[in-house]
Amino acid sequence: MIDTPLYDITPFTALDYPDHLAAIFWFAKCNMRCLYCYNRDIVFGEGKISNKEALNFLKSRKGLLDGVVLSGGEATNYKGLVAFCKEIKALKFKIKLDTNGLNPDMIQRLVEDNLINYIALDYKVPKERFLAITKSKHFDYFSKTLDFLIKQAFPFEVRTTVHGDLIRAEEINRIIKDLLKRGYQGTYYLQPFLFTNTIIGRIKKEQNPVDATQLLTGLKVVWR
Ligand code: SF4
Repeated sequence: MIDTPLYDITPFTALDYPDHLAAIFWFAKCNMRCLYCYNRDIVFGEGKISNKEALNFLKSRKGLLDGVVLSGGEATNYKGLVAFCKEIKALKFKIKLDTNGLNPDMIQRLVEDNLINYIALDYKVPKERFLAITKSKHFDYFSKTLDFLIKQAFPFEVRTTVHGDLIRAEEINRIIKDLLKRGYQGTYYLQPFLFTNTIIGRIKKEQNPVDATQLLTGLKVVWR
């Protein structure tokens, strides 16, 4: 049977991989069900593009692009990801991984084998609300990934999607405190929720936007 892990390919982005011109590979399926997720087709859909097609696409973009963003869905769910990254690397493309951090063993393997150049790690919400917002019980897996990347001094960023009715300033402050306590020294990115059609149906535009002046200092916080 042909392995088709990808739902779609975005052929070009100058925004999603800092300082790189890249393609985005969208992996089908996810191990979370975030209340604000707008990727319904990807989270519930089947993959329809094979590794071979994706690699052929990259070959046709040599000299035009220098990177690939592995996004989704959740790319680390894909069992063949290590082998796939080796093939991408053999074509001399850099790789950025967008991840929710729930697969620490896979991320450790990718980092230790030098198969990834940069990671954007979602810190969805503090531990106490993790299950309610993501429908996952595994904050501990995310936590392990975060600690690993900090300990490795790996180039990565932490980011949170902000819908003011789902995450409040005091919760973002708890994340900031936690990041500082763990020794994270990078930038913490906040990205406003933009869509209303989500995997749980339509949700209202936020009624109570987070007041940026209430956020703690001590960490560089940037709104995207
Ligand atoms: S927002 Fe949540 S459910 Fe949607 S793809 Fe990302 S991790 Fe998965």
